Amino acid sequence: MLSFRNVTVRYGAFTALESLNLDLRRGELMTLLGPSGCGKSTTLKVAGGFIAPDEGRVLLDGKDITYLAPELRPTATVFQNHALFPHMLAGDNVGYGLRVRGVGREERRHEAEKVLERVGLSGCFDARVQDLSGGQQQRVALARALVLNPAVLLLDEPLSSLDARLRVRMRREIRELQRAVDITMLYVTHDQEEALSISDRVSVLNGGHLSQTGAPEEIYFSPADDFIGDFIGDAFPVTLKGRRRLIRPDQVVPAPDGTFEGRLTGREFLGATVEWRIEWKGQSLRAVLPSRDERTPPLVGGTVRFDIRP
Ligand code: ADP
Ligand code: MG
Repeated sequence: MLSFRNVTVRYGAFTALESLNLDLRRGELMTLLGPSGCGKSTTLKVAGGFIAPDEGRVLLDGKDITYLAPELRPTATVFQNHALFPHMLAGDNVGYGLRVRGVGREERRHEAEKVLERVGLSGCFDARVQDLSGGQQQRVALARALVLNPAVLLLDEPLSSLDARLRVRMRREIRELQRAVDITMLYVTHDQEEALSISDRVSVLNGGHLSQTGAPEEIYFSPADDFIGDFIGDAFPVTLKGRRRLIRPDQVVPAPDGTFEGRLTGREFLGATVEWRIEWKGQSLRAVLPSRDERTPPLVGGTVRFDIRP
């Protein structure tokens, strides 16, 4: 539905995106995941029309929208800092885009109230934005984008200003909303857990290059390279039978009669799980096991046996 074709963006001599190719399907939630500075916001700005690429094309339903102004394309953006008007009412913030489009006062109010209800803020039309909590302000920002009825909603790290617990709640709400409204979303985050938990597909960006696109399970279980393996869900290389392999800590399974014997060099209790650091044949391994499975905590410095799951 939304396609990037060989999109390159340069800032002066610096290439922020190099020949990016990406296709969003109708109705899917795709996340763009990568570390700070890898080009996520740049990609979103190209999709929203805030930056014209130096090379390449952006297509929406096959139509070239590369140079179409933001307000003329069927996209809406929720920015990282949510960019609300703090002195204005929540409802007027939501209705702002409609006002720009020449929609009358009565209809604006009606539409804004409808969308505020959708995002769990019914009755908040007359609240001043500055009196709302961080989470509520984020909901207003969502409502302001949704009210425009966009074909594609673009979200740039929309939860980054919220505390951890609220982030988890809001990401579920966004996912539920996306399903209920049946809207296509391109969602930017640097948080791998957020990406894995809410996406239909994840695209991993690394230094302006797209490394891998796939379902969360695919990215997690079959990372295309070491960068992705390490960035998503924690992996480390181990040489096994002369072959270098990428291993995740949940593949290292302590067992009294395990095939391998190593030395426990560290142990961290994390609540639901325990992490063991194991030295084996001059290599450093890590194991993560449910803490209730660890009957007697082993002595750091002693030997432990374990298997490595394929
Ligand atoms: P991300 O959102 O993944 O953190 P950005 O897309 O914002 O990354 O930026 C990608 C790279 O381009 C970064 O190295 C950033 O410093 C650089 N960059 C972004 N915007 C500009 C700009 N307006 N001028 C120069 N460099 C920029
Ligand atoms: Mg960014």
